[in-house]
Amino acid sequence: MENDGAQNPYSNFVYDSALSVQEGVAQPEQVSNFYLEKMRQKRAQMPSPDELVDGILQGNRVMLSRAITMVESSRPEHHRLAAQIIEQCLPHSGKSVRLGITGVPGAGKSTTIEALGKMLTALNHKVAVLAIDPSSERSKGSILGDKTRMEELSTDPNAFIRPSPSAGSLGGVARKTREIILLCEAAGFDVIIVETVGVGQSEVAAHSMVDFFLLLQLANQGDELQGIKRGIMEMADMICINKADLDSTKAELSAQQYRNALHLFPMPESGWTVPVILSSAYTHLGIKEIWNKVNEYVAFTKANGYFYHHRQQQALRILDETIEQTLKDRFFNQPGMEDRLEAAREAILDNRMSAYAAAEQLVGEE
Ligand code: GDP
Repeated sequence: MENDGAQNPYSNFVYDSALSVQEGVAQPEQVSNFYLEKMRQKRAQMPSPDELVDGILQGNRVMLSRAITMVESSRPEHHRLAAQIIEQCLPHSGKSVRLGITGVPGAGKSTTIEALGKMLTALNHKVAVLAIDPSSERSKGSILGDKTRMEELSTDPNAFIRPSPSAGSLGGVARKTREIILLCEAAGFDVIIVETVGVGQSEVAAHSMVDFFLLLQLANQGDELQGIKRGIMEMADMICINKADLDSTKAELSAQQYRNALHLFPMPESGWTVPVILSSAYTHLGIKEIWNKVNEYVAFTKANGYFYHHRQQQALRILDETIEQTLKDRFFNQPGMEDRLEAAREAILDNRMSAYAAAEQLVGEE
């Protein structure tokens, strides 16, 4: 096409056919190189365990989160680094009050934790909220984490909220949560709240790592106490009949039934009388009382020695559990063990061998 410089307003415009071949853009050498380089840089930026520990002790949340990610990682090299960090944080941990909260889904755990947490940060406490939710691994959906939870508390600079680690087993989740408690304490959090769902065994795991265990119940669940596992009631240091704003008469009746039932239980080892109160995160009924009772309990059990005894018992249990887990891992991770196990299973199913003899042989081969 001809261009007439003087009259044509589009004189500087170069007309080109859309069909002509463009110069094109140079392809990157290899896309993967780019990512490899990025990963290398990321690794190089990763703070050393000493730097992480320093950061944690200064209350640096980014460093705390990074250390927690390392604890949660399934990579063996991260385990080693995490173990170093935990060892170094250990002397700076243990100074918090560890509070467990359990209740069935919908009992109002997160709403209560938000109300309690906000009250505590207003009182200058530093609050870490952790969770134990082994359901996420099994069902690929978590009971605790699917909804947007604790929106206000999560933006509070004095609160730190971390969802449940997702490990294969409840034992794995529990171990990681215990380690995360230590890191949070070293970072200066003085109230640790461990939330768990009151179904299955997760409340037993939560109970094994806290000082005070709070059970949230709803009023009038049909046959009142029938549906509640006796074990959970025996673990509780306090019971709240929650959402009491809905019907306070019903809630009080329910509380009375719990108090009566608790009378039939043996006296807890702590010597503490388990209070049953009404609560509502909506009206803030009972929220202050929960904290008052926690403090009373801590003072009471520190005076009678149970507080430290209980923590020591928990530490000894960790020793047993870790030995058990380490031996199991060592056994199952032996080269060829999967095949040998399969052969043993077949032999048992074909009645060629008893399960006892097969187990003895496998363990003996170690
Ligand atoms: P979670 O599953 O135990 O964590 O329970 P949530 O805290 O998510 O609460 C479940 C539902 O109960 C939500 O719709 C809340 O808004 C509601 N809820 C929580 N606390 C109260 C309360 O004190 N009173 C009333 N009426 N409803 C509440």
